[in-house]
Amino acid sequence: MWSAIETISTVALVNAFFFSALSSDHRSASGSLPGQTPGEVLALIGSGVAVTRAEIARRTGLARSTVSQRVDALIAHGFVDEGSDAPSTGGRPPRRLALRIHGHAIAGVDIGASHCRVGLLDVSGNLLVAREDPLTIADGPETVLGHVERTLRALLEAADVKATRTLRAIGVGVPGPVEFSSGRPVDPPIMPGWHHYPIPGFFEERFGVRALVDNDVNAMALAEQRRAFPGTLHLLYLKVGTGIGCGIVADGSIHRGARGSAGDIGHIRVGERDEPCRCGNSGCLEAVAGGAALAERLRELGLEAAGSLDIVQLVREGNPDAVRMVREAGRAVGEVLSGLVNFFNPETVVVGGALAAVHDQLLAGIREAVYRRSSPLATDVLRIEPSRIGENAGAIGAGTLAIEHALSPAQVDRALATDATAV
Ligand SMILES: [Zn+2]
Repeated sequence: MWSAIETISTVALVNAFFFSALSSDHRSASGSLPGQTPGEVLALIGSGVAVTRAEIARRTGLARSTVSQRVDALIAHGFVDEGSDAPSTGGRPPRRLALRIHGHAIAGVDIGASHCRVGLLDVSGNLLVAREDPLTIADGPETVLGHVERTLRALLEAADVKATRTLRAIGVGVPGPVEFSSGRPVDPPIMPGWHHYPIPGFFEERFGVRALVDNDVNAMALAEQRRAFPGTLHLLYLKVGTGIGCGIVADGSIHRGARGSAGDIGHIRVGERDEPCRCGNSGCLEAVAGGAALAERLRELGLEAAGSLDIVQLVREGNPDAVRMVREAGRAVGEVLSGLVNFFNPETVVVGGALAAVHDQLLAGIREAVYRRSSPLATDVLRIEPSRIGENAGAIGAGTLAIEHALSPAQVDRALATDATAV
């Protein structure tokens, strides 16, 4: 089961990540001396800034013998492959170095309120395989993570994966606030029993590799930015489903705030609205425009609507009440978003989540409010677009988080220093 996303250039994506890992000095040809450690040498290779031993020596000022030691260590630990196709000005052609894509597998896990999707990625972020199962997050961590463990083992046991790839790291997205440094959920409203549960430890004990955990909307924002909008450094990802959340990519990195709650926009008040919200306040964006609230209002009109998927179905059938409500929801989202656009000045806003399936209606309302209310400078180059990655965004984003951690210069240096073979 290969993903259609495969068609996006992986070289550009990998380069973009490593390029961001280099300091600005290191990016320019006249900069000071980068690449002092093996991890930094890997960033030079991965970014395409220096892809032969001679170029690395020239860019770093390191002796050729030192460069060779670093490169040989990176090859021995499976980070780098060496080919022989670099262009030459004569004599023996220099051997071209490249990030080693094959041999590794990274797990990306997207746990939702009522489903989980487990994927395997290569280290350039391509989704190799993914499986989705229904599950109930309220069943608690042991039950849910036990299911994820069995699914992941089944994917790793598949013949083509088992014979050629080794699991190197795991990324997990969950539908609640997460303290990123520890990977523990903090008072997650729809995840009873998960407060402070050590999710990374669960996976590290069972698979022997590092696991990173983040809020699912952050993971989706990362997937959209890295894979669909790599030229955009400032991006907001709005997830409009049962609830409403926002992932923030600032200067190419996820912005989580002081404790990890940045982007929790579902409880920002919309204008003079007074719909009661489950948080105890009233007029919250989620209570005005979330899928659960819209479904309830449609039921009051006598329509059958259990949640976001039914709303989407009604809009597609042309039901005038559903169409009107989604468009109004778009305006309410747009009203809050116009403030965020003025405050943050993103280049791109990506709208995903279940209700984005009817983006003609939703985005029309959002655009209308944002362009009416945001400042001209903030909307000058602003694009508001539907998600391009779609249903795999959470799994791909969580996997990307794990890859970028595993390939960061500090982590690579640590892996080489401890003589570990894990990426
Ligand atoms: Zn609220």
